[in-house]
Amino acid sequence: MHDFVRPKLEPTVEKPSASEIERMVVSDDECTATDGCPVEPDGYCPHGYPSWLLHLGIM
Ligand SMILES: [Zn+2]
Repeated sequence: MHDFVRPKLEPTVEKPSASEIERMVVSDDECTATDGCPVEPDGYCPHGYPSWLLHLGIM
């Protein structure tokens, strides 16, 4: 079952710096979720936290 409407969880880690965000944008497979887990740039970690790119509206 795919549930694309998820409640928005508050980030549990510090927001990455601009250069870290930029690296996530240019690198296809190095992205972290808002709780610090490694995720796909347009994905969610197993705990339901979105990638920073999703959270910031970049993806
Ligand atoms: Zn997680």
